[in-house]
Order: sequence, then C-alpha cells, then structure tokens
Amino acid sequence: MFKQTAEFIKAQFPNQDFIPLHEPRFIGNEKKYLIDCIDSTFVSSVGKYVDDFEKQIAAYTGAKYAVACVNGTAALHMAMIVAEVKQNEIVITQSLSFIATCNAIAYIGASHLFIDVDADTMGLSPDKLKIYLHENAIKKADGFTYHKTTNQKISACIPMHTFGHSCRIDELASICTEYNISLIEDAAESIGSFYKEKHTGTFGLLGTFSFNGNKTITSGGGGAIVTNDITLAKKAKYLTTQAKVPHRWEFVHDEIGYNYRMPNINAALMVAQLESLNYFLENKRELANSYKEFFKDSEILFVEEPSNSRSNYWLNAILLSDRKTRDEFLLYTNDNGIMTRPTWTLMHKLVMFKDAIHGDLSNSQMLEDRLVNIPSSVRI
Ligand SMILES: *Cc1c(COP(=O)(O)O)cnc(C)c1O
Repeated sequence: MFKQTAEFIKAQFPNQDFIPLHEPRFIGNEKKYLIDCIDSTFVSSVGKYVDDFEKQIAAYTGAKYAVACVNGTAALHMAMIVAEVKQNEIVITQSLSFIATCNAIAYIGASHLFIDVDADTMGLSPDKLKIYLHENAIKKADGFTYHKTTNQKISACIPMHTFGHSCRIDELASICTEYNISLIEDAAESIGSFYKEKHTGTFGLLGTFSFNGNKTITSGGGGAIVTNDITLAKKAKYLTTQAKVPHRWEFVHDEIGYNYRMPNINAALMVAQLESLNYFLENKRELANSYKEFFKDSEILFVEEPSNSRSNYWLNAILLSDRKTRDEFLLYTNDNGIMTRPTWTLMHKLVMFKDAIHGDLSNSQMLEDRLVNIPSSVRI
C-alpha cells in the first residue's frame, strides 16, 4: 500500500526527484511589481503596495478593514493587544495547532486553556468548549466569565482553521457571545477558505492570516489582521507602526508601539500572489480530488473538507490506522523523495505549556497519532 501511495504521489508531481510538502509558485506579476518597487525606492515601511494589499485582503475576505503585518505571529499578538487581552487572563485555544498561536498568547503573559478539536474539522470543538465552560466557568456580575478554580478572567478564544479546513466557527461565535469572550480566529492557514459562504477570519472580533513561504500564497514573510470594527482596525494600524502621533516633522509617540508593519517589497509580492489566488485554489482542489479518489478504496483515510465549508486545501492530510503505521509511512515516503510530515506535537505536551489547564483532548491525541500531511503544492 505504501508503495502504490508513493507512486501515486510521484505521478502527481512528475519530473521532480524530491517532492516538497508545499512550495511557493510565482507565475504572475511578481517580478514586475518587485522591480517597480525597487525602481520607486519605496521598499520599506511606506508605499502603495501596502495600501493595495490591505484593500484587496479586505475586499477578498469581505471584512471591512485589513491591517498588514510583518508576519502571522505578529498579527496574532497585535490582535490580542487590541482586543485588550491582559496578563494572567485565560485564552482558550487548541492543543492541536502550530506553536505560533501559543507563543502569541505567551507574549501577552496570558494563560493557555486547551480545548479539544472536532475529529472531522480538526478545529476547536464547540461541543467540548460548551461542556468545559459549563462545568468550569462562571459568568459574574461584571458580565465577564471567570474560571471557577483559578479565578482568572477568560477573556479570549482563538480557534484555528487547521490545514485550511474551517472549524464550526458559527457555533463557536455564539458560545463566545453567550460568555462574553472575545473571538479571535487564527486563520493563518485558511486564506481562500469559506464556512457557509463567509470567509474564515471574519466571524469573530478579529481574524489573522499568515503569508509565510509555506502558506497558500506568500509575501516572503507577512500577515494581516481583519476586522469589521473601525476602532480596532485603527488601533492595530497605529500600534503596528510605532504609535506615532501624526505630524509633518515631529517625532512624538504616545504609547508603546511595535514595528510590526509589512514592508512595501513584501506587499508588492503579495499583490501579485493575490492575482493568482483563485487559480491556485482551483488547482489545489483538483489535486485534493485526485487524492480523494485514490484513497477511496484504501485503508488510508483522506481528510475531506468539512460539511458547510469550502476549503483551500492548503495541506492535504491522511489518517493512518495507528501511530506505528504512521511512523512506517513517514519513514517510507521520506526515504523515497517524498516529503511528508506528522502533525504538530500537541501543545500541552511541550515544556513551556505542560502546566496549562485543559479539557479532554482525545480527538487531538487521535490526530497526533494518525495524521500525516502529504505534498500539496500547486501543480504547474
Ligand atoms: C503559519 C502559522 C502562523 C504564523 O505565521 P507566521 O507568518 O509564520 O508568523 C500562526 N498560526 C498558524 C496556525 C500557522 O500555521
């Protein structure tokens, strides 16, 4: 079975000795815009591409505002700052996520609370969240929710749309409204993914994206915050650009700011990549459909897009029968020029977060044991 699978993957990417997991593709106006950027000398912190990029991300996702950031991790950090998440408060997130989500929470000095994912979406489970809050949280007279045993305020919830598949974000949004918890979506992996025809990242107070080199589209390094709240958007723009009070020549800053702005040269790359996005999405969907067809009659399960959603199929994923088989598959494919990867070691097992509170994490554990990502680049 491994041999046939490896051969099938190789046939999807012919003429390649080594097949990476996800390569960037530059098939449009990338060079043109980069040259324009260099010729104009506006390569750094100001320039028209940053403004174009922000307008286009807002238009594409349907959010009212977008703020460009230097990377997705900075976007998450900034989203929590403008949502006024404070030190020692609790932030709910997934144990099955990339480290950046948890690092950003740690930059705030907040405590992590890990809730399980759903087995089908691989994103935060509304049912598990409801059960946990019902048993462990209390809404107090001030209108906020507190943890019964630690007495900390539960101020934010950060679900993640894993590998580009949408989680049950509308249900999570209503739970967060009920408990008065700020919803921030880590949509780093899900540009081009929609849930009930609405773009991921636009269901909560704020959403964040990453445009790192391994994502569906890339600015080299980059990220964005989206929101419908003009006050939050303005605050994010202000704080990502060193909190400078506008003046023709004086340097006055009235708050601790951050140098989190995306350089114009990265934005130039991004504007070109956005022009290719729809083609990339179609191309990736075709590959996902071929995988789906291939694995239909096999003991390996292909992870399909959840119901009610349209995935960008950023990274295709399969489930092996158990951890031992997973390890054998990883060894076989990586030995044969095919890059495959297990999912992330669960966050609550890492030394930095091992003391964090958590609910039942059985689906997360099942996915850690069985999931493997397989090559998913756009085919040219
Ligand atoms: C890629 C990613 C990030 C961080 O993005 P960077 O641009 O690399 O900082 C955050 N969260 C998740 C889930 C990611 O996959």
